Amino acid sequence: MKRRVSIFGSTGSIGQNTVDLINRNPDDYDVIALTGASNIQQLARDAIRLCADVAITADVSRLDDLRTALDGSGIDSEAGSSAINEAGHRPTDWVMSAIVGAAGLTPGLHALQQGATVALANKESLVCAGELILQTAKQNGAQLLPVDSEHSGVFQALAGEDISTVDRIIITASGGAFRDWPLEKLAHATLAQASSHPNWDMGQRITIDSASMFNKAMEIIETKEYFGISANKIEVLVHPESLIHALVGFNDGALIAHVGPTDMRHAIGYALHWPKRQPLPVERLDFARIGTFSFRAPDEKRWPALRLAREVMERGGLAGTVFNAAKEVALNGFVSGDISFINMAEIVDKVLNSVAVDHIDAPMTLDNIMYVDQISRNAAINEIKQRAG
Ligand code: NDP
Ligand code: MG
Repeated sequence: MKRRVSIFGSTGSIGQNTVDLINRNPDDYDVIALTGASNIQQLARDAIRLCADVAITADVSRLDDLRTALDGSGIDSEAGSSAINEAGHRPTDWVMSAIVGAAGLTPGLHALQQGATVALANKESLVCAGELILQTAKQNGAQLLPVDSEHSGVFQALAGEDISTVDRIIITASGGAFRDWPLEKLAHATLAQASSHPNWDMGQRITIDSASMFNKAMEIIETKEYFGISANKIEVLVHPESLIHALVGFNDGALIAHVGPTDMRHAIGYALHWPKRQPLPVERLDFARIGTFSFRAPDEKRWPALRLAREVMERGGLAGTVFNAAKEVALNGFVSGDISFINMAEIVDKVLNSVAVDHIDAPMTLDNIMYVDQISRNAAINEIKQRAG
C-alpha cells in the first residue's frame, strides 16, 4: 500500500532533500500536501512531478501565481498560514515538518493530533513548545522522529538501549563561519560572511544560527525535550569536520558515536524508512582519506547563545517560547541590517530577562504559547528599535 505523505516547507533545503528521496521511489508514496512560501515555481514543479493533491503557499499575495503555475494539472492550490495549518489535518501517514521558525509549530501539531508519524526538522517546535508537542504525540499514538542530524544520531545510538543507563549525550558543532575568527572582529561580521557554512549546505537562517551557535543552543534544548534527559547530562563539543554528529555515553563508560556524511538525506531517509533501514544515495565515508577527527571545547565568550540555552532550561516553563521568539526577531534584525551580529545574543538575553514571571510560568497551552511568543517578539522589536535609534 502507498504511504500518504506531506512535506511542510517542501521548497526549503530540508524540503528539497525530502522531495529528492520521495521522487526516487514515487510509486511508494501518495503525496498529499506540499507547502512553501515565496518559491512558487519550485512548489508547483514539485507538486506536478509528485502528483500532490494540493500545493499551498504561506503568502496569500502569491496565490494567483501558484494557480497559474499549476494550470491544467488538476492540483488544488491554497494560500495563507491558516491553509498550511489546516494541511496538518489532512489524513496522512508521514509528515516532514520542515517549515523554518515558529510558523512550523501548528501544522506539525495538527499532524500529531491525527496520529501521523512526524519527521521533525522544525526544531523551533520543540524549543518553544516541547511539552505540548510530546504530550500531543503521546495522547494520539503519533510517532515523532528527529531529523536534526545530531538528534537522529542520538536516536540511532539509543536503538535497543535503556535511556536510564545514559550518563551523557554529546552533540557536536562545526563552529560555523566564525569558529576561528578573532573575537573582536565578530561585531563587524557581515550578513554574507555569516551566511556561509564550512560544511553543510542549509537554509540561510540556520546557517547564520550556526555561526552564532543559536542553532546549537536550540539543539541542546531539543535534546533535553526529545530524549527527556536532564540538562546537566548534555554536552556540546566543537568538531570542525562535522562527521561525528553525536555521541551517547552509557553508565559502563561506553560511548556510541553516530558518524556519517554531511548530507541531510541520511537523517531524512532514516526518518522516512524507520524502523527499517533502506539504501540511501549518500557518500560512503573513507576514513583513511579523512585521516583525523579534531575536537575542542566550545567557548561561551564567542558563543553566548550556549549560556542562554542553559538559562532557558533552568528556567523551564515558557522560557523556550521567549527564547525562540526573541531569537527569530533578532535574526530578522541582523538579516535586514538593523543590528550587528553580536547584538543578536544581547537582545535575546535582554528579552529573556524582561518577560514577566507569570507569563513564563503559565501552563503550556497553544494559546499561551502564541501569546508569550507575541509579547516576546514585541519586546525584541523594541530592543532593536532602541539600538537602531
Ligand atoms: P529553508 O529556509 O531552506 O526552508 C524553509 C521552508 O519554510 C521553505 O519551504 C519556505 O518557503 C518555508 N517558509 C518560510 N517561511 C514560512 C512561513 N512563514 N510559513 C510557512 N512556510 C514558510 O530552511 P531549512 O530547510 O534549512 O530548515 C527548515 C527547518 O529544518 C528549520 O527549522 C531548521 O532549523 C531545520 N533544520 C534544517 C537543517 C538543514 O540542513 N537545512 C538541518 C537540521 C534542521 P519558501 O522557500 O518557498 O519561501
Ligand atoms: Mg543540527
